[in-house]
Amino acid sequence: MKKYILSIDQGTTSTRAILINSQGEEVFKAQREVECLFPQPGWVEVNPNKIWISTIDVINELMVVSSSNMEEVAAIGITNQRETTVVWDRITGQAVYNAIVWQSKQTQDLCDEREDKMEFIQNKTGLRMNPYFSASKIRFILDHIPDGQKRAERGELMFGTIDSWLIYKMTYGKCHYTDVTNASRTMLYNIFDMKWDKELLDIWNIPESMLPEVLDNSADFGEAAFFPGHVHIHGVAGDQQAALFGQCCFQAGESKNTYGTGCFMLMNIGDKPLISKQGLLTTVAWREGGVTTYALEGSVFMGGAIIQWLRDQMDLIKSSAQSEEYANRVHDTAGVYVVPAFVGLGTPYWDDDARGAVFGLTRGADRHHFVRATLFSIAYQSKDVIEAMKREAGLELKSLRVDGGASANALLMQFQSDILQCEISLPKYVETTALGAGYMAGLGVNFWKSKADIEQNHTIQKKYYPMMPQSEVDCLYEGWLQAVNATRAFKPKKKCEC
Ligand code: ADP
Repeated sequence: MKKYILSIDQGTTSTRAILINSQGEEVFKAQREVECLFPQPGWVEVNPNKIWISTIDVINELMVVSSSNMEEVAAIGITNQRETTVVWDRITGQAVYNAIVWQSKQTQDLCDEREDKMEFIQNKTGLRMNPYFSASKIRFILDHIPDGQKRAERGELMFGTIDSWLIYKMTYGKCHYTDVTNASRTMLYNIFDMKWDKELLDIWNIPESMLPEVLDNSADFGEAAFFPGHVHIHGVAGDQQAALFGQCCFQAGESKNTYGTGCFMLMNIGDKPLISKQGLLTTVAWREGGVTTYALEGSVFMGGAIIQWLRDQMDLIKSSAQSEEYANRVHDTAGVYVVPAFVGLGTPYWDDDARGAVFGLTRGADRHHFVRATLFSIAYQSKDVIEAMKREAGLELKSLRVDGGASANALLMQFQSDILQCEISLPKYVETTALGAGYMAGLGVNFWKSKADIEQNHTIQKKYYPMMPQSEVDCLYEGWLQAVNATRAFKPKKKCEC
């Protein structure tokens, strides 16, 4: 009897496996941390074998704690940290270099060398020239292993994002596939033709033979023969697209914002891609039955991470949750603004050189005001992204679906609703990433018949409604924009001679 969908969520810091029932509820969950490596300042890598081992572990643990077996699993879904790049040997199946993680800046020079190709690349991929995406990471690996280019040209090497790596391992090396969403983050995939693009491959000098075949999200990605039960992987998507799907944002104009380490906002824009003039990325949301749905995406680099900074570096709070308690002890921020540009600013500014700043300090400001202002910076940054989306797509935002760790903070969510002047909707089940991949897998094997079927499962935990007068919103947001401008104007010399 097929009772469950098994969803694997391979994230930057951990791997989770979740058993989901037909009501879209989590029945059991297992989780393992995955250690990131920082070989040099700005570099982030991870051992691909550890990712694979953590996946085996969580699946085995899940089967043990739930007293289930793979015979009860209808299909497997995989969602993953996007862009992270693995290159492995076609014969041995062993990775030839560590996986280079999406956050890693080690390929900045490779991107700078190709800066003049920015517009050309954006017009085909919807992305910006940035080390974030996979293409420069593949180039780096081929440049840093013996005979890398020659081996790649001889067809001896394979590339994959983490989904492909796991599919390859789970199918005993039989299947080399990825899905359209992960492909759309490589900078090698043309999101208009929905194909690997020869001209993009030439820019990076990457042989096409390395690349996986690209399938729709609910396609058959092969039998997970490494595990018993003859279960097939039937749903694959990058984490943010999976969350959009898990939040049931199926109509154009529907958006979700994930408040994790960073904040990632995606808006469904329907079946026509548009190239952003507002600093947003265009990306594939999913493809089913050959029809592609696209999304606009905005990224905030410091989301929940700024709260971790208050806790770990500033020692101002003991836990992330305490930020709410402290911020609630005062009624306003006493005019303080915190601009958390610790690693530059993302959408819509894309300012790598900006650094964090605090404005408006007076003798009356105390730690509670500071915590409140820091918390609110997450909402202001998200408003910047939404404003860019509105300008770009001309869509009015009626409701924003939220998830991720910091969405548990009621004060932040109320302020977000106020400052956006729109309804905020928090689902009952906030692991929307795993749920989205699970839904895709379930659709692939008729565990759920349609998206309408899935929508029945989407239940709301809480809604927030705007309560702040528009005049106050305008005044506060004006102050934020001034603070951002002043932050960006501060450009100290990189290496001071004195
Ligand atoms: P990720 O998937 O990126 O690891 P999560 O969705 O697990 O992130 O969220 C973790 C982040 O959420 C942390 O940065 C943490 O500081 C923040 N966070 C968790 N709970 C709260 C809270 N109650 N208030 C504010 N921030 C929170």
